[in-house]
Amino acid sequence: MRFEGKTAIVTGGGNGIGRACVAQLAREGARVALVDLCDPEVAQELVDSLKDAPGEVRAFQADVRDGERAKQLVDQLLEEWEHLDVMVNSAGIVRDGLMGAMTDQQWRDVIEVNLGGTYTYCHAVTQPMMMQRSGSIVNISSTGAEFPSRGQVNYAASKGGVNGLSRCLAKELAPRKIRVNAVAPGMIETAMSAPVRNFVGDRLKEIIPLRRIGQPEEVARVVAFLASEEASYVTGQIVRVDGGLSLGGY
Ligand code: NAD
Repeated sequence: MRFEGKTAIVTGGGNGIGRACVAQLAREGARVALVDLCDPEVAQELVDSLKDAPGEVRAFQADVRDGERAKQLVDQLLEEWEHLDVMVNSAGIVRDGLMGAMTDQQWRDVIEVNLGGTYTYCHAVTQPMMMQRSGSIVNISSTGAEFPSRGQVNYAASKGGVNGLSRCLAKELAPRKIRVNAVAPGMIETAMSAPVRNFVGDRLKEIIPLRRIGQPEEVARVVAFLASEEASYVTGQIVRVDGGLSLGGY
């Protein structure tokens, strides 16, 4: 119950890692706003499944690229909740392609959602958190920022941007007692990673020292730790959750 009496926004909360974060926070007592552009029925199913949790989940359909909507949503939540304690940015997409074949649209889509969307929601919560002199932001990055795969210049650039944004914002907001960290997952079992998992097959397990794909809940537990008071002296960090994938070597 680390989040009893706390409030949170989770973008991309309808599926995958964001969905696991919503569940983790609600089970630990938080009132959570799930922000996603997914099918409302998918979000509602999660809301229903958590109706007996100590916290509460409400779903909002929104595109993280829409800055006006983000501000309006934050204002609306603040009016009801009076404080905003946790911001998790998990909304993300891939549009893979080798540079020679990449379209400007593929580049722009990934930068605008992954980096732009993270900026948009960090921006929307910064002033309210500064005024209350508390808060914790956790951005979902990727090991792909530092250890890129071919065909992902757009994705690697977007997540490198998320790392830079997180570290810089951590420095700016630390004097106001607001912490900003990022979590960099490796290969996690969600819809996003399905094409890569299918393509690489069993070889993937050979290159992951823990010999298995990660589960969204394993990322969510680290997100919850960073968002909680347990991590009260941790800010500006990029925490890898990758089963050792980024260790390299043999
Ligand atoms: P996912 O596809 O299961 O979930 C992503 C969610 O983001 C979806 O619900 C989708 O509707 C939402 N979304 C996409 N664009 C949006 C937009 N413009 N506005 C609002 N919502 C939007 O993917 P996932 O694997 O859970 O990915 C979550 C985060 O984790 C992403 O930032 C991704 O880059 C990162 N990540 C995933 C892995 C992995 O292996 N799955 C690895 C490293 C990093």
